[in-house]
Amino acid sequence: MLFNHKIFNKKNYILFYLINFLLLINLYANNINNNSLDKYFEQYKNLFLEEYWRFNHDEAIYNGRYEFASKLEIPCEYNNYLKLDYINHTQELLDHYFKYNLNLLNSNNQSDFKLMYDHLNKTRFYLTQYKNHEWDPSIYNIADLIGLLLNTEYNTLESRLLDIKNRLSYIDQYYAAAKQNLKIPTKEHTELAINQLEGSYHLFNINLINKINESKLYEVDKYLLMQSAYNAMHTIENFVNWLKSKQIEWEQVGYKNFRLGKELYEQKFNYEINSSYTVDELFIKALEEKQVLHNKMSELAQKLWFKYYPSIEYPKNNLQAIKLVLDKLALDHVKPAEFVNTVKQQIPQLSEFVIQKDLLDIDLSKPLVVRETPEYIRGIAGASIQNPGPYDKEANTYYNVDPLDTYEPEKAESLLREYNNYMLRILNIHEAVPGHYTQLVHSNKSPSLIKAIFGNGSMIEGWAVYSERMMLEEGYGDHSPELWLTYYKWNLRSVINTILDYSVHVLDMDKDSAIKLLTMEGFQELQEAEGKWRRVTLTQVQLASYFNGYKEIYNLREELKEKMGDSFDLKSFHNKFLSYGSAPVKVIRDIMLDV
Ligand code: ZN
Ligand code: ZN
Repeated sequence: MLFNHKIFNKKNYILFYLINFLLLINLYANNINNNSLDKYFEQYKNLFLEEYWRFNHDEAIYNGRYEFASKLEIPCEYNNYLKLDYINHTQELLDHYFKYNLNLLNSNNQSDFKLMYDHLNKTRFYLTQYKNHEWDPSIYNIADLIGLLLNTEYNTLESRLLDIKNRLSYIDQYYAAAKQNLKIPTKEHTELAINQLEGSYHLFNINLINKINESKLYEVDKYLLMQSAYNAMHTIENFVNWLKSKQIEWEQVGYKNFRLGKELYEQKFNYEINSSYTVDELFIKALEEKQVLHNKMSELAQKLWFKYYPSIEYPKNNLQAIKLVLDKLALDHVKPAEFVNTVKQQIPQLSEFVIQKDLLDIDLSKPLVVRETPEYIRGIAGASIQNPGPYDKEANTYYNVDPLDTYEPEKAESLLREYNNYMLRILNIHEAVPGHYTQLVHSNKSPSLIKAIFGNGSMIEGWAVYSERMMLEEGYGDHSPELWLTYYKWNLRSVINTILDYSVHVLDMDKDSAIKLLTMEGFQELQEAEGKWRRVTLTQVQLASYFNGYKEIYNLREELKEKMGDSFDLKSFHNKFLSYGSAPVKVIRDIMLDV
């Protein structure tokens, strides 16, 4: 069934809803004596997801449900209305059947219920209050998914190309809806949209065309596909030109301010992070942590000073001394051509350390595949994890590492100074073992598809950040002061991200003060600080998620240590914590502390 406002009408929708509803009633009628609400709920979760995908095609595809590949969701008002209607009905159903019997469910299902319910609330918030469809033109970008379909071998190249062709047949409607949605955007998101869309042309007129030529399709199909590729590019070009012509108008009436303001920031924080802390509490914690880190760093800088500056007096300004020592450590790095291999060699060493110290379960049957970043996504992160979706658990997880010898020498050198021999080890802990990759393997073992799909970003990032500290505490790197100092600089980054995010979006911090904070107090290079400023103008709350998750996990561990005394075991804590999938730390905390 196509979800398109011409075809997918209200009647179909009601029918679909009714089927779900009847199924549920049936479940009850047949098994009411079993009094096992868990069993109903397990079945309902599948229905819930199937219905959810029908309203969220793109998300379905990102999660590995490629049967939606040929259908492009039109972001029109009518579809938004249907989505809201769907949210309301689903919540009514959740209320009616489960909410008042929640304590009859096991803890895993209780937390799944919460995640489902909260996710619907979040979607409603996006549609009715946050309303980025009205002010963020960069969300109207179909290229990313086309690239994914082109490069993921979920099917033969020929069928994938036909999926793409069908998908592209909606593109005119898609951009017509986009134009209608956009009211007064922000200047920053408009510029981003123009840049990204212009950057996507080559996907349509080069990559896609090449693949069409490579394929074994009939000539006539090849011809039709090329037509739709060029049409797509043309439509996107038109949209870009429309944005450019509107810029003049928006300049005159005044763009929307990219700062979210306290009320919306608070709401977004609650929906996205689902923290045990309020926004203000987290901000204050971050300010305190910054001070603690500066003190620790200055101790280490004093200790290391004469090793690196034997004939120079220790500077009066502590922050300056730290910066000077960090500058020396940055010189200790590999050559560009050695970068990928160095990462490759470090991963097994990290696993070995975790196993030898008995820190948590490591599944050696699913090794991480370290590889050179595929060309079409190079140059974004330097190194990052690319994981298989929850429906595709057997697929490889890749650690994409950019081959730095393909970079301009200057860019490679600056990246290598940042990812010097100390920082690279921390990066590998964070991205791979026991950070993101290890967490993912544990999460995929969790029986809950719900948690795998509606995973909490702050828990995921928080775990990676927590694991860095845990490894160093357990003696990885033999307590080297250089490694600790580098770690503190890295950790300071997520602390300052939190301060920056709140200060800019809630307290109106200007660019100069932001750059000062990042360079003087965060020891960041100007270029990095400029990039961070750009990021804070384009995103909200996300920058605060790392420190929040880290702080919640670290504090939960300390709380449990206190509570359990001698019976506390680090390995059991880690395994248990990771067994709940990527649920919000708050939810895991409630279960683990049994409150
Ligand atoms: Zn160098
Ligand atoms: Zn991360």
